Order: sequence, then structure tokens, then C-alpha cells
Amino acid sequence: MSDFDGLKALVTGGASGIGRATAELLAARGAQVAVLDLDPSSVDKPLLAFRADVTDDTSVREAVAAAVADLGGLDVLINNAGIGAQGTVEDNDDAEWHRVMDVNVVGMVRVARAALPQLRESAHAAIVNTCSIAATAGLPQRALYSATKGAVYSLTLAMAADHVREGIRVNCVNPGTVDTPWVGRLLSKAPDPAAERAALQARQPTGRLVSAAEVAGAVAYLASPLSGATTGTALAVDGGMQGL
Ligand code: NAD
Repeated sequence: MSDFDGLKALVTGGASGIGRATAELLAARGAQVAVLDLDPSSVDKPLLAFRADVTDDTSVREAVAAAVADLGGLDVLINNAGIGAQGTVEDNDDAEWHRVMDVNVVGMVRVARAALPQLRESAHAAIVNTCSIAATAGLPQRALYSATKGAVYSLTLAMAADHVREGIRVNCVNPGTVDTPWVGRLLSKAPDPAAERAALQARQPTGRLVSAAEVAGAVAYLASPLSGATTGTALAVDGGMQGL
């Protein structure tokens, strides 16, 4: 008997990287898992796949309703879809601020709003938001991205307070630098991607990037009844980056 037997989970951004590793881990541990993604074409059974854009409320509501119908309910929401942004406040214009905030912050709100009525019906309801060490670390060249993740952190605490008496736990994970297609895309823009990767690894206290599977493990803990008394927390998965 696993901690996920019988649990029904929805993972946004589950077609790639951290979301994909999380969806696969939850399914391997016995959960029924639906993925919601802009492009779910690469998602295979036993995962269920639903196309939605988290910036489009109608698309979110339709996909969540379809996922809930196919799963037969919902216990766990992994609010993970997100995009990056680089630069100082002088580098991103208003349109870019609105675009990234819309995906990383309001996107999570839209999915939560669509999922909460079903989560209230669950005896093991949990939401896990993918935040970042950027929420609190003060990273250079990440003003917009950090602001979105600061908002995700505050949102996690506020939602934990709002929904604890309904039996819904809300936590977040704060990954460091995780080896996902996202980081691969960033490195590929460097003049020498291999040298840039080596430099990035050298900046990690562990000498290596965090793996998507390691973040998935932390998400799975916060999503499972194993963490049944934990709500309103941020779990760092950063290979010791925090506090450096
Ligand atoms: P990724 O690019 O590999 O995967 C992101 C997924 O989200 C993709 O499948 C993409 O299609 C989906 N997505 C993007 N915009 C969407 C939208 N509008 N609607 C629906 N789906 C959408 O990225 P990743 O590295 O796995 O990142 C996942 C989450 O982890 C993000 O919230 C990111 O901020 C966070 N994070 C990543 C790192 C890292 O180093 N990779 C570190 C800290 C936090």
C-alpha cells in the first residue's frame, strides 16, 4: 500500500521538467495523474493529458473539469506551470511584466479556483505550488521572475490560511537550479554552452544541478498524507544554495 494509492492528482506544466518528473513519480507510487499543459502531445499513458493555457480562464476551467471527470475526483493539485524572465527592472517593459505575471502568478490562481470545489470533497486535499529560491534570495538579473515567485510564496501562505479549516493543505517547493529543458534552453543561448554549464555547476555547493526527480520527491512528500499536518511551508530543494 503506497501513500498515493487511490489519490487523484492534477499536474500543471506536467509535460516537461519538474512537472513531468512529478507526474511520473506520483503515478509510479499509485496515484491517478492528469497533466495539464500548453503542449501535452508528449505525455504517455498511464498519465492522462489535457491541453490548456493557464493564462486563459475558460481553457483552464474546461481542462480541469475534463480532468476531474476522467479521474473521478481530485485530491492533489500540483500548480507548477511557469516561465522564466531575465534582466533588471530596466530590461522588461510593462507588457513583459504582465505576460510573465499572468503565467506564473495569475495562472496558479486560475487553476486553484477551478480545482478548489473538487478539493473540498477530498479527505486528503493538498496543493503544492512550484515556487523558487528566487522568491527570497535576491538574485541578480531576475527582477521580474523573482517578483513572480515572491508572489507565489505569499499566495501559498495566504491560501494555506484560507483553506486549512476546509481540510486543504497548501505548501510550496523552492527549487534551486534544476536540470530541466528550461535550463537547457538558457544554456544553449550562451556562446559556449558546455563552459556555461560547467560554470553553473561550479556555483552549486554540491558541484551539480538539482535533478527534476529530486524536486518531484519533495513535491510528492508535500502532496501525500505523510505531510498531513504541514501547511503554509516552503521546502527548499536547492542543493544548499539557500543562505549563501
Ligand atoms: P519546463 O520549461 O521544462 O516546463 C514547464 C512546462 O510548463 C512546459 O511543459 C510548458 O509547456 C508548461 N507551460 C508553460 N506555460 C504554460 C501555460 N501558459 N499554460 C500551460 N502550461 C504552460 O520548466 P521547469 O524547469 O520544469 O519549470 C517548472 C516550474 O519550476 C516553473 O514554475 C519554474 O518557475 C519552476 N522552477 C524551475 C527551476 C529550474 O531551475 N528549472 C528552478 C526553480 C523553479
